[in-house]
Amino acid sequence: MPQNQIFDLLLRNARLRGGQTLQDIAVRQGRIAAIGPALAGTAVVEEDAGGRLVLPGLVDTHIHLDKSCLLCRCRDASGGLKGAIAAVSRLKRDFTIEDVYERGARTLERAITQGTMHMRTHVELDPLVGLRSFEAMKRLKRDYAFAIDLSICVFPQEGMTHDPAVERLLTQALAEGADLLGGCPYTDADPSLHMERIFALAVAHDVDLDFHLDFDLDPSWSHLEEICRRTMAAGWQGRVAVGHATKLAAIDDAALGRVIALLADAGVGVTALPTTDLYLNGRDANHRAPRGVAPVHRLAEGGVAVSVATNNVLNPFTPFGDGSLMRMGNLYANLMHLGPESFGDCLDMISNGAARLMRITDYGIAVGGQADLIVLDADDEAEAFGGIAAPLMGFKRGRKSFVRPAATLLR
Ligand SMILES: [Zn+2]
Repeated sequence: MPQNQIFDLLLRNARLRGGQTLQDIAVRQGRIAAIGPALAGTAVVEEDAGGRLVLPGLVDTHIHLDKSCLLCRCRDASGGLKGAIAAVSRLKRDFTIEDVYERGARTLERAITQGTMHMRTHVELDPLVGLRSFEAMKRLKRDYAFAIDLSICVFPQEGMTHDPAVERLLTQALAEGADLLGGCPYTDADPSLHMERIFALAVAHDVDLDFHLDFDLDPSWSHLEEICRRTMAAGWQGRVAVGHATKLAAIDDAALGRVIALLADAGVGVTALPTTDLYLNGRDANHRAPRGVAPVHRLAEGGVAVSVATNNVLNPFTPFGDGSLMRMGNLYANLMHLGPESFGDCLDMISNGAARLMRITDYGIAVGGQADLIVLDADDEAEAFGGIAAPLMGFKRGRKSFVRPAATLLR
């Protein structure tokens, strides 16, 4: 490489996953131009990672910004899944664009400063809330583009086939900037027709699909097989994901093996949502309560695209959350009895694997890739994951987008 190279950013002494030697990362026009030890050249911005772990910006495949931060309006969060849907339904008619924007921004800013740089937000559309939450998401997407790529997935949380107005709203949103479409057959009076219409809309608008699916621990029925069948019939392999799929936590190895083969064949991805799935499932058990989280690491071994994501933050579905994907991956590993030998696989579920599920191109720390980088306050991958290391700073498309200085002791 010539000596007189000028870059926009040189991030020096980065520890990359699996690498022994510290590397410099050079960025030009938002993309990684070179990676190597002690790179020659100068840069407009030069930063020393000091041997700390540098990861690509994290990927949250499933979150509900529109109904985050509702605890102050809704203290009673003990009604299970039905109670949570009903509680938010009551609040939803009073949502304004400004209110949704303000709460969404609070959660988004937390996620950004925890290292998230790609996010798929699910947004409820129905006659109660109309397009107000969707409008707020479009504004958030625009206003926070400096730090995060926000993908908007519109979906009918409370069913669709009972009221033609719901499909009209979905169609309008898809024409006005929604990135993809979701479905929620388990709340619809006619789940099969719900899936049929959602697939038809996705094909008509050429968008990906992400369903809320199989959100209980009853293995006697499931919509997963029908989703896989419809995915193949539509030719939508690789473009469909499902969230929750908690029934997969309630079946034996042989049944799980059959589902894994089916998912891999159909190219359907699965997202586990540990905080919500733990909080809402297994409530009828007084002792030895089941955990109710889909074992997505088993699915990944079978070639299925998987991720672990946030879902809800501080609302009746999940009265917890700080937007940290590292914490979410850590929780998943903990509850699945996965130790340091599996930490790397779990890290993939909030980075590379999640990017695959969302079909993000140019993801990862490689020459030519988008320069989305976070510097973690740790110099070892296993310690970073096990210790939920915080990011000290992040660069979105090569531009510094946040800092989060480490705590300092004052003796
Ligand atoms: Zn969800």
